Amino acid sequence: MQFIDLKAQYCAYQAEIDTAIKEVTASAQFINGPQVQELEEALADFVGVEHAVACASGTDALQLALMVLGIGSGDEVITTPFTFIATAETIALAGARPVFVDIEEDTYNLDPDLLEAAITESTKAIIAVDLYGHPAAYEKIEKVAAKHGLKFIEDAAQSLGAARLGSNCGSFGDIAATSFFPAKPLGCYGDGGMLFTADAEAAESLRCLRNHGQRKRYYHEMIGCNSRLDTLQAAILLAKLVHFPDEISQRIQVAARYNSALADHFITPQVASACVSVFAQYSLRSQKRDEVVAGLQEAGIPVAIHYPIPLHLQPAFVDLGYRAGDFPVAEKIATEIFSLPMHPFLKGEEQELVINTLLKSVQS
Ligand SMILES: *Cc1c(COP(=O)(O)O)cnc(C)c1O
Repeated sequence: MQFIDLKAQYCAYQAEIDTAIKEVTASAQFINGPQVQELEEALADFVGVEHAVACASGTDALQLALMVLGIGSGDEVITTPFTFIATAETIALAGARPVFVDIEEDTYNLDPDLLEAAITESTKAIIAVDLYGHPAAYEKIEKVAAKHGLKFIEDAAQSLGAARLGSNCGSFGDIAATSFFPAKPLGCYGDGGMLFTADAEAAESLRCLRNHGQRKRYYHEMIGCNSRLDTLQAAILLAKLVHFPDEISQRIQVAARYNSALADHFITPQVASACVSVFAQYSLRSQKRDEVVAGLQEAGIPVAIHYPIPLHLQPAFVDLGYRAGDFPVAEKIATEIFSLPMHPFLKGEEQELVINTLLKSVQS
């Protein structure tokens, strides 16, 4: 059994994906081929936002967003300590200081009620993350950002296809960033990312920044970087995008089946009202996590822990001066959380084995 079965997915769409790859190799337009713009337009449409700008990874998308918003040395950016490192790493790389705020116990996302207490004179922006594919509390976070004149970035790396109050993930904040890392809900065959914004000027600057600060070749208006999405990756994503709506339904069905079998024995993922989650991860909580995980591994079931150490306790951020106990909710969840195999191609009998193994482990 695979944690995420990318081989089964490839086999299901093999003819379309192989054709898409051959078209690119035959055209030899490996950089900025027409598929890149086609994908930008298709995903802008999918998310329901005016502009989409492809780039080389989700991490780069966050970094480009911070660059275009002018965030740098001396600035503070508020974010969650319970996320993948990239969210806070890019803040530090921009020269700014990540300021962590604890999470909600039900959704594991940034707790909007704790934001105001973390705002200082130096605060310039908030980055909210849609952890495990569940949208953050945007209607509340947006209010705080607007009241204090802060920029607002959505880290939608895990949430393409999710929605809150009728708006799609990727459409929140001044700029949203997503990732096409192979294991994300919409993944390519390498690294890739995309930015979304309603702001035409920001979109133009992002196009310039991702390509060495040039609009016209060898005329450099600003200091940019090399962060383009490969044409091959764009072509693969276009082929996969056709199937993505069905895959989202499949993910939701797999999650529903886990929920109904496991809710009496574990803390199952909560979906807030008027929200759609894409279950980038299906994560359970148990106070006997290590025992339960060992039981699954013994039965040959792949398990992962997202994430074992909250960011404020990572050695990389020791200079920020945080201590154990600073964010009790994130710290508690990090000791209890574990993720089960979750993908659109999970077979009924595979899921049954996962469920039965888990139920056995709570009975013994
Ligand atoms: C995966 C991920 C990223 C980074 O995306 P890459 O494409 O791997 O660079 C950023 N933020 C979150 C929350 C992620 O899960």
